[in-house]
Amino acid sequence: MKIGSPKEIFPGEARVSMTPDSALQLQKLGYECLIETGAGKAAGFSDEAYAKAGVTVVENAAALYGSADFIAKVRPPEQSEVELLGPGKTLISFFYPAQNKELLEAANAKGANVIAMDMVPRISRAQKMDALSSMANIAGYRAVIEAGNNFGRFFTGQVTAAGKIPPAKVLVIGAGVAGLAAVGTSVSLGAITYAFDVRPEVAEQIESMGANFVFLDFAGPAQDGAATGGYAAPSSPEFREAQLKKFRELAPDIDIVITTALIPGRDAPKLWLEDMVAAMKPGSVIVDLAAERGGNCDLTVADQKIVSPNGVTVIGYTDFPSRMATQASTLYATNIRHMMTDLTPAKDGVPVHNMDDDVIRGATVTKEGAITYPPPPPKIQ
Ligand code: NAD
Repeated sequence: MKIGSPKEIFPGEARVSMTPDSALQLQKLGYECLIETGAGKAAGFSDEAYAKAGVTVVENAAALYGSADFIAKVRPPEQSEVELLGPGKTLISFFYPAQNKELLEAANAKGANVIAMDMVPRISRAQKMDALSSMANIAGYRAVIEAGNNFGRFFTGQVTAAGKIPPAKVLVIGAGVAGLAAVGTSVSLGAITYAFDVRPEVAEQIESMGANFVFLDFAGPAQDGAATGGYAAPSSPEFREAQLKKFRELAPDIDIVITTALIPGRDAPKLWLEDMVAAMKPGSVIVDLAAERGGNCDLTVADQKIVSPNGVTVIGYTDFPSRMATQASTLYATNIRHMMTDLTPAKDGVPVHNMDDDVIRGATVTKEGAITYPPPPPKIQ
C-alpha cells in the first residue's frame, strides 16, 4: 500500500510529516512512499532528498490524496483536504476531536478512517508514538531560547574584567513535558531556575535537574477534584490564593517567566496576573506556552509579542515546534513511523487496523463510516 505526505497548508506551518529517513523506515515496512512537491522544503528536506530515499514526488495534493492509501499530516485537515478523503483512505494527523466536532463529522461522512495522533493513550508502550510529548519537548526548549533572544542579558553569571554579571532568574510554571524541557534548558544555560506545579510529585524531578521547586505555604489539598491519570485538576480557591501570593512575592526578582500550565479540557488557568507583570523589572520576558488555550498570563495575546507599559516583553507565539521545523518534523515523522509499525505487524505493507489494540483503538476517531471517539478507557496502565 501507499503512504503519502502532503504539504501543510496552514499559514506559516513549516513542519512535514515524512522525512527522507522516515520514508526509508516506512519502505522497510513494505509501504510505497509519496510526497507532495515542496512539502519538506521549509523543514530543510528537498524533493531531491526524498527522491534519493526512494520516495515518489507528486505534483499536487489532489494527486497525492488520489494515490495514497494512508495520508500522513501534521495539522488537522482543512475542509479542502477533507474533500480529498474517501472510503478506504486513512488520515493520520493531529485532529483534536473534542475541539473539532464538525471536522470529525465531515471526515466520517467521507467514509475515511482517521487516526488522531493527539489521542494516542499516554501509556508506556505508546511513548514512541506520543507526538504531543515530542512537540511539547520542543516547545519547552524553544520557549527558553525565544526568551533569551528577547532578554538583554546573559543567563549565566560571570565575573569578567569589565564587571560582575549576576545570573538570570527563571521561573517555570507548570512542570509537564514542556515545563520540564524548559527547566532543563534554562539550567543548562546557567540561569538560577525555579519551577512550580500543582502536582507536588514533580518536586523531586525538578530538584534533580538542578532547579528549585517553589513550595507553597499551604496545608490543605492542592485540588478540588482528584487528578486523573497524572493530569492536573482545577485548584481550590484557597490553594490558588496561596499560589498567587507566592508568585507576587517572586515577581520583582524574576527575570524570565515561562508558563506552561494546562488542565485537560479547560481554558488555561490565569496565573501570572497584570499586577505581577507590573511588578517585574523592565527588560524581563514572559513566554506563555498556554497562549493557544487563552494564556496563563493576563497580558498574553496569542501569536503576538507585546511589550507591557513597564517594559516587560510578553510572548504568546503558538508555533514553537514549527519554529524548529527540521527537528520537529524529524521527531513527528518518527512518531508516525512507529504508528505505522504497530499497524503493520507482518511488515508486508498491509495494515491491520486492530481495534483490540488499546493504542490503535484510542487514537482511531473514525473508522469505516462510524465515529469511534471517544474511546473506552485503556485497559493497560
Ligand atoms: P499539560 O500540558 O496538560 O499541563 C502542563 C502542566 O501544567 C502539568 O504538569 C500540570 O500539572 C500543570 N498545571 C496545571 N494547573 C496548574 C497550576 N494552576 N499551576 C501550576 N501548574 C499547573 O501536561 P503534560 O505535559 O501533558 O503532562 C501531564 C501529565 O502526563 C504529567 O504527569 C506527565 O508526566 C504525564 N505524561 C505521561 C506520559 C506517558 O506516560 N507516556 C507522556 C506524557 C506525559
